[in-house]
Amino acid sequence: MKINMYIDGEWVEALSGERKNIINPANGEVIASTADGSVDDAKKAIKAARKAFDSGIWSNLSAEERAAYLYKIADRLEEKATELAFLETLNNGKVIRATTTADIPVAIQTFRYYADQVKELKKESYIRADSSETIIIHEPIGVCGLIVPWNFPLMMAAWQIAPALAAGNTIVLKPSELTPVSAFKLFEIIEEVGIPAGVANLVLGPGSKVGNELAESLDVDKVSFTGGTKTGQSIMHAATSNMKKITLELGGKSPLIMFDDVDFEAAVENAMFGIFHNAGQVCSAASRLLVQEPIYDKFVERLAERANKIVVGNGESENSEMGALTNEFHMNEVLSYIKSGIEEGARLVCGGKRLTENGLERGFFVAPTIFADVNEDMRIVKEEIFGPVLVVQKFKDEEDAIQKANDSIYGLAGAVFTEDMDRAKRIVSKLRAGITWINSYHLAYVDSPWGGYKQSGIGRSLGSAGLEHFMEMKQINIHQHVKPVGWYAN
Ligand code: NAD
Repeated sequence: MKINMYIDGEWVEALSGERKNIINPANGEVIASTADGSVDDAKKAIKAARKAFDSGIWSNLSAEERAAYLYKIADRLEEKATELAFLETLNNGKVIRATTTADIPVAIQTFRYYADQVKELKKESYIRADSSETIIIHEPIGVCGLIVPWNFPLMMAAWQIAPALAAGNTIVLKPSELTPVSAFKLFEIIEEVGIPAGVANLVLGPGSKVGNELAESLDVDKVSFTGGTKTGQSIMHAATSNMKKITLELGGKSPLIMFDDVDFEAAVENAMFGIFHNAGQVCSAASRLLVQEPIYDKFVERLAERANKIVVGNGESENSEMGALTNEFHMNEVLSYIKSGIEEGARLVCGGKRLTENGLERGFFVAPTIFADVNEDMRIVKEEIFGPVLVVQKFKDEEDAIQKANDSIYGLAGAVFTEDMDRAKRIVSKLRAGITWINSYHLAYVDSPWGGYKQSGIGRSLGSAGLEHFMEMKQINIHQHVKPVGWYAN
């Protein structure tokens, strides 16, 4: 597959002519070659988006007209869902049962949801005592730079593209340089449904160049970034150039609190899903498990027993329950966290190594790994590992659980498992996190805001908030006739 950039309605090579190979992380095979853009390509895409925005070709359409394009995109994505799920698995390493049931369907839902939302946007209006009127309207922000990561490539792109376009902005999307395949297929659809040239642009290349240009450029009005907290900090700095609006969806180290009154086997399975889903490469992964004292030993033992049986394999196989990590560099980072956990004295109860047998030798597979008896000073407890590595701590009571759960620089997600609903509600009300669950994990709904407290981000994706973050609000104060102000005597 040959992937190029889509700028101003044209498929183009990088200005430098540079190309890069994209590989399948399950076996190291080359699956595509992509244009490898740089700062000048980003500038070109921004210029096209600027021109399209200023022309009003998109922002002057009615909400219904823009929504019609989004419905068409959703319909085409749906028609191609099987192919897209396969390609996402091939590029990212994630298992096919996830791409078919979550990644692609959620991307489709997101386009439909924002098409519905934008049509339903209400105008606020107030009539004053002097019969004047104030109307409050929404307007697009302008050119939006959308920078997304590799862990849910199409879904993360859809979460930003759909509301940005629905609101009337023009966009430049920069997918991760490691996973451009599904974004490329989405832009083929964008072209096919006839979105005008320059309204939606795809630029490819490294974050430090292409992404940074989107964050810094004076011609970009808003940047929406999904990725690591350190990169988010750098984007925030760059965005001060013209006081860009920013949305940051960043990392996490989310706690799952397990009380001793739960259905034991179901609870074990939920804890496994919380951390090992997508091989732990989920911003909201339940990477810190807090288990109440009476069941702690038995829980850790059973968790290790079941984690050892997880079917790790090539994502293309229907049997695989956990796939490869998305790239070699990241796999080595995860392995170095495992090493540091062992050196810091955590008790390794399962996994702890790369898997290279039974057909996995050329892929980037790490065994489901669990550390017990950890303490809050260890790096594996404090830092986001973003891999299949769980740390398990013991807690005594409600107060102890809340204190431990909130002891993090992050505040993306958290969950509590218990049969006592009053207790569960008390606890979630005290969790300093934007996404919380009671007796479940990982469920994400397109109508509910997604984002974090503390260093997990700024702003929200999804829900009505996800659209508001792509709009300016304007108040229009109307007097029918000019009247004297009556302030000045002479
Ligand atoms: P990353 O921060 O390395 O990269 C994300 C994107 O930013 C990529 O497109 C990359 O090319 C670009 N980028 C890198 N450096 C840049 C720079 N200096 N300026 C501008 N852009 C730059 O993240 P990743 O490794 O791709 O993804 C993993 C991270 O994403 C994890 O920390 C995870 O928690 C986070 N994440 C958060 C959410 C959320 O909704 N909160 C969702 C998914 C992933």
